[in-house]
Amino acid sequence: MNIEDGDCSKPSLFELSKENLSSILEEAGHKPYRAGQILNWVYKRFAASFDEMTDLPAGLRDYLTTKVKIRSLTLLRKQEGGGDWAKKYLWGTKGRPLVESVLLKYKYGLTGCVSTQVGCPVGCAFCASRHLEYERGLSKAEIVEEFIAMCADEKARIGRMVFMGTGEPFLNYENVMAAIDTLCDPSGYDLSRRRITVSTVGIPEAMRAFAGDSRGVRLALSLHAATDDVRDSLIPLNRMYPVGQVVEALRDYALATGQRVTVEYMLLSGVNDRREDAKALAALVDGIDCLVNLIPWNPVPGLPWSRPGALEVRTFKEILERNRIKVTLRRSLGGTIEAACGQLRREMTEK
Ligand code: SF4
Repeated sequence: MNIEDGDCSKPSLFELSKENLSSILEEAGHKPYRAGQILNWVYKRFAASFDEMTDLPAGLRDYLTTKVKIRSLTLLRKQEGGGDWAKKYLWGTKGRPLVESVLLKYKYGLTGCVSTQVGCPVGCAFCASRHLEYERGLSKAEIVEEFIAMCADEKARIGRMVFMGTGEPFLNYENVMAAIDTLCDPSGYDLSRRRITVSTVGIPEAMRAFAGDSRGVRLALSLHAATDDVRDSLIPLNRMYPVGQVVEALRDYALATGQRVTVEYMLLSGVNDRREDAKALAALVDGIDCLVNLIPWNPVPGLPWSRPGALEVRTFKEILERNRIKVTLRRSLGGTIEAACGQLRREMTEK
């Protein structure tokens, strides 16, 4: 697939609804029903240029090429995971790295993980993205394009989407919600809302707003510690929104939506994987309809933590289960490929 840099002066096709596109066609004297054909090419067959749309008249293809761009992002690098199966993509414009996306293959199918910001202002201690200077939030079109360009590369429909790449999704709330609406539009990609998960480090007011706006999209909280002293050292935003407030917002979300929520908990040896940490976590989420997802740390060069032993992981899990907390142990895909969002961009930026 040849992905060309988009012309900044033209609107992205991913900004346009079927109605917008129909109007553009009609104003130029073309049949508005062609909008459905075009969206089919882009969202179902992942066309990257109007030239590929062979059932459109040549004149219309030429006209659209001058008016609308399909691709804004260029694929700068692709990295495939080792024994497991994951692909990491680095996208940019004009040769300059911007964001990363990851495609993960689970037993139940493909999941596309997208970024929402160029750099991240949150600065979590365990995240490669903390080294990347924050520039801006991605537009709706850029977020949609990350997902569709992964489908195009894989030549397959991706059935699940997670907002777990670089950026805190709730700091780019409007564009994230608009991207979800676009991908779930039945006249386009028609992704199921229930197959989308937005992951946050915890911004209580945004989590409460999301309860009203999400309409079925799932919420995951990157908790990673059950006490403020440990969480302060991992996630700086915790000083503004302490554990208690964040977990209360999660409880409210689960009650308001009737949905089970996910609590992500990365296990770092000697930091948050002790018996007392497991007991504190069990007490914290008691009564919330949640699934705790334990993620043993994958060592990353330059970061100080090590992976807990199998016994520590099993003990932690058993303490949660004894307290009637639902818990899973995440299978690691692609080793470090998944662990360090922002790593590829950092490597390339530092060259
Ligand atoms: S983990 Fe997420 S919120 Fe934290 S710095 Fe990385 S991208 Fe930002």
